[in-house]
Amino acid sequence: SVRVRFAPSPTGPLHIGGVRTALYNYLFARKMGGKMLLRIEDTDQTRFVPGATDYIQEALQWLGIEIDEGVGVGGDAGPYVQSERKDIYAKYAQQLLDEGKAYYAFDTPEELDQMRKELEAAKVDNISYNAFTRMKMKNSITLPAEEVEERISSGQPYVIRLKVPLKDEVRFKDLVRGWVSVHSSTIDDKVLMKSDGMPTYHLANIVDDHMMGITHVIRGEEWLPSAPLHILLYKAFGWQAPEFAHLPLLLKPEGNGKLSKRDGLLGDFPVFPLEWKDPNTAEISRGFREDGYYPEAVMNFLALLGWNPGNDQEILSKEELISLFDIHNIQKAGARFDVQKAKWFNQQYLRKKDNAVLADELKASLPQPEWAEKIVALMKDRVDFVKEMTQGVTFLFASPDTYEEEVAAKKWDDLAKQAMPVIISTLEGVSNFQSQDLHDALFSGLEAASIKPGKVMQALRLAVTGQGKGPDLMLIMEIIGKEETLKRLNKALD
Ligand code: GLU
Repeated sequence: SVRVRFAPSPTGPLHIGGVRTALYNYLFARKMGGKMLLRIEDTDQTRFVPGATDYIQEALQWLGIEIDEGVGVGGDAGPYVQSERKDIYAKYAQQLLDEGKAYYAFDTPEELDQMRKELEAAKVDNISYNAFTRMKMKNSITLPAEEVEERISSGQPYVIRLKVPLKDEVRFKDLVRGWVSVHSSTIDDKVLMKSDGMPTYHLANIVDDHMMGITHVIRGEEWLPSAPLHILLYKAFGWQAPEFAHLPLLLKPEGNGKLSKRDGLLGDFPVFPLEWKDPNTAEISRGFREDGYYPEAVMNFLALLGWNPGNDQEILSKEELISLFDIHNIQKAGARFDVQKAKWFNQQYLRKKDNAVLADELKASLPQPEWAEKIVALMKDRVDFVKEMTQGVTFLFASPDTYEEEVAAKKWDDLAKQAMPVIISTLEGVSNFQSQDLHDALFSGLEAASIKPGKVMQALRLAVTGQGKGPDLMLIMEIIGKEETLKRLNKALD
């Protein structure tokens, strides 16, 4: 049965592109009735950032991407953190050495530099340590066996490299990209084990995917160039390779190039699921969660960045995404990260929520928590985020100091001045100060005085809020109450 994995490196906060990778793995696993694994790839100790693993788990949890097996959950194929699997990688590297499919290399950084310079001078495009160049270097292919043994036993640093065959056509069918075919002569003799005894990403990744029974590798397009090497590694071990699906790039909002972590620091939009404080620089990067996005909205938005259900339905619940998900509908072309669209999704999900739920969210940030539900009714259709509800109604909390000039010039006319006393006395007579009653009383009061209500409503709004436009005026008066409304009208008349 299907087994997929999300295998991030804990080198910092999880980027939104990484979240999309996790999501596609998750949707595929659920669709196929398979399992979703979480593995932490921390073999590059120099890039390890404390807190990153916790961040990854918290982000997945916030989004509702449940892990079936792996870090935080456990399982039979663990440990699921690569730094705890060093012995396993050493054993498999040894197996390749024993079978002559890998070799020791003793070249110093200076010697490698020297080779690079020579290749550059000879205008060789594909500068690498490969079937040609290895013959000039210091490794267990070129050195006599005794010398190799002596170097190792005397503690000389070495790496273990894969012996890439000179003439081999590496072919595989990517579920997104179709057939990929690369000649082995263009592939480096990649390092499998580093001199510090740690495996490289390539070795650890292949050994783990095999041992953890991974059937489909779904990951970002940036790994596509590594896939032929991975296929060679599977061959070297005599293992069947999993299927591959390389996901399209996420592009900047303007479409000009790849979306990067830097964009989240520079732009006015988040590129991380949760807020992240860099442990070294204390720099804070914005998060979708803290910006007020709902996890369901982010999931829906991300799911459609590179995939579509085959029709133009856009609002899709997690259950719908799972039932419609088809790996063959993943697009090849890069997907533009459209912030406006993300906000739109949030708005759609906000509107679907019960007013009582929204009121609960809003309460904490209100000077008058008891107004929450009414403010929700007032603002629900006018905002993308709950926090915008209070930003848009500051006039509720204080009577206006100034009146929008242009509107005042046009609307605070003789008719309005004549209507105000009528309005005031009408409102004084309303005992049940509720929007519908207010509306009815105002309209009949004004009509009785032969004033068309439509002609003075904007002046009334101006007097109450200081603004020419805004949400339902009757409801605004209901919220601030009779006393405050009358106070404002009298103030405006002064
Ligand atoms: N550790 C790699 C990363 O951080 C995983 C790549 C893969 O899925 O093979 O993206």
